[in-house]
Amino acid sequence: MPFLSSDNATDTYDVLIVGSGAGGGQTAYTLTMDGARVLMLEAGRNYDPTRETPMFQTPEQAPLREDGTPDKPFGFYDATIDGGWKVPGEPYTQTRTDDAGRFDWWRTRMLGGRTNHWGRYSFRNGPYDFKPRTRDGLGFDWPISYDDMAPYYDKVEMLIGVYGSNEGLENTPDSSPDCLLPPPKPLVSDLLFADRGRKLGIPVVAGHRAVLTQPLDWKTNAAKLYPNNPTAQQLTADSMKKRAACIWATPCGRGCSIGANYQSTTVHLPPALASGKLDIVTEAMVYEVTLDKSGRANGVSYVDKKTGKHRQAKARIVVLAASSCESVRILLNSKSAKFPQGLANSSGKLGKYLMDTVGADLVGQVPLLEDLPPHNEDGASGGHVYSPWWLYKEHKSLGFARGYHIEFGGGRGMPGVDTGTHMEWLTHGSYGKKFKDEVRRYFGSFVYFSGRGEMIPNENSYCEIDPNTKDKFGIPVLRFHWQWSEHETRQAAHMQKTFAQVIDAMGGRVRGKAEADGAKAIAPGGSIIHEVGGAIMGADAKSSVTNAWCQTWDVDNLFLTDGAPFPSNADKNPTLTIMANAWRVSDHILARLRRKEV
Ligand SMILES: Cc1cc2nc3c(=O)[nH]c(=O)nc-3n(C[C@H](O)[C@H](O)[C@H](O)COP(=O)(O)OP(=O)(O)OC[C@H]3O[C@@H](n4cnc5c(N)ncnc54)[C@H](O)[C@@H]3O)c2cc1C
Ligand code: SF4
Repeated sequence: MPFLSSDNATDTYDVLIVGSGAGGGQTAYTLTMDGARVLMLEAGRNYDPTRETPMFQTPEQAPLREDGTPDKPFGFYDATIDGGWKVPGEPYTQTRTDDAGRFDWWRTRMLGGRTNHWGRYSFRNGPYDFKPRTRDGLGFDWPISYDDMAPYYDKVEMLIGVYGSNEGLENTPDSSPDCLLPPPKPLVSDLLFADRGRKLGIPVVAGHRAVLTQPLDWKTNAAKLYPNNPTAQQLTADSMKKRAACIWATPCGRGCSIGANYQSTTVHLPPALASGKLDIVTEAMVYEVTLDKSGRANGVSYVDKKTGKHRQAKARIVVLAASSCESVRILLNSKSAKFPQGLANSSGKLGKYLMDTVGADLVGQVPLLEDLPPHNEDGASGGHVYSPWWLYKEHKSLGFARGYHIEFGGGRGMPGVDTGTHMEWLTHGSYGKKFKDEVRRYFGSFVYFSGRGEMIPNENSYCEIDPNTKDKFGIPVLRFHWQWSEHETRQAAHMQKTFAQVIDAMGGRVRGKAEADGAKAIAPGGSIIHEVGGAIMGADAKSSVTNAWCQTWDVDNLFLTDGAPFPSNADKNPTLTIMANAWRVSDHILARLRRKEV
């Protein structure tokens, strides 16, 4: 009986995992494939994308024709349940609310977490990204290298399915042979971007996204992942067989009922549940890690949201994967006589060095793309091509550290209610037949550039417990402090300048203007939804919260497998690295269990 009520989750498990998203899902999969008995506690409700995903609904079937609202910021059909920038009854506070100084926090409360609706961009960190301080003296090195992570990137790509190509570019690692799926064909706008971008020296290559462009080779992949474990091989193969290839028609943000993209709920949890080794309690809001007399973790306390009762769950090892800030919150709230500043906080670094991605966007309109013959360009619902950072050799002259990649969008995707209104700057309020003709002319001629860059961790971007505010369960909430440095704002200005140059090279015009002031161009903290850090890993217990195994220095049977232990946030979107790292840490936990060290 894998889904349990809190009344039935009374055993002592090998491992207890908090959270079921990218980090929790991967941890549960890896541990159960090798026979560990796992209890997963998830604050959100149960969610099954194969039954619930509104994949085939059209905009006119939705209120406001699917436009965003405060409770559904990304539109009515977005897969998020009980979440968004605000979660009812679960506030957080900020010390500043202006764009430059605030941190916006996106959460969701559902099985699978944000993996049900994430963008699926899946890039590997490169060798430089693990040793950034060694290269430029800023931020922190990871206590591990790319070589430590590379085998796990291979495994995750084989398991979840990532399309892309190997290009041999600097700090943009190639995958091992047969790990990547073939990328989808470029759209017309992609081809134009590639041509003009290359003339400006900007590489434009196949995007990397966790979408199946063809069915997974279940036989080969499962055998490669588990050559000496026939049970895991069978469970993995059986689960892979159930996933269909993309049908190129529906927005991934609604979730995918045919399992063609990665969600924890269709990829990690089904084989883990089928193993019989995983029990899940949903609607279990964890607020504290509990300790035995010797100061080792022996479980957690949580609120059963169905009954309002406070419950305990027990395990030999506790893994927090509730998302970076939530895991930090649980630790900060786990105060005791031995740990008055919060658990695993003897360094005083818990909550510190919170990072997001540097983001800036620009839209252009390109006459060459007007009046194209009608054709379907829904494609893989995002990024067929992208530009990895290309200016590694010019860092000294740029005025900012590190770099960014470009996520590019264009094409004739299904029109929405706002397709015409977004053209107002070109149609100038025309109406009737003229307006219809103009909408037909301009439809598909827009190009969208999003820069996604690296933030350097700083002392002024962190979270702590707000002494005055509690959520509806009575749990103290987080208070965020945020500050960009000039490295980030100058990078955002560089993004704007670059995008304007590319739009110009495409023969197009910029909507509005490229913002030269980086402080105005940069998206608010947290708004790119790539938050990592807060419990960084390091080689030294005085300056970090965990060691290289994401095992807290203070409590040796307590681990973190979300983004909290990241000591840096490369321009590469973090989720593939969260999963690869969770697999690496889980292998370490399994080895300790086998050696009976816990
Ligand atoms: C719209 C959107 C687009 C994105 N696009 C990309 C992208 O293209 N590429 C990329 O790399 N990343 C992307 N991300 C970010 C990505 O979703 C996250 O990096 C990833 O999901 C983090 O995994 P996680 O396991 O740490 O957290 P989550 O996936 O958020 O899972 C955490 C889980 O823990 C549960 N939980 C929280 N608190 C508690 C508690 N106290 N007790 C019990 N359970 C708890 C939550 O309910 C949730 O289910 C995107 C995010 C969003 C929202
Ligand atoms: S575009 Fe493909 S992967 Fe995305 S939801 Fe549609 S079928 Fe699934």
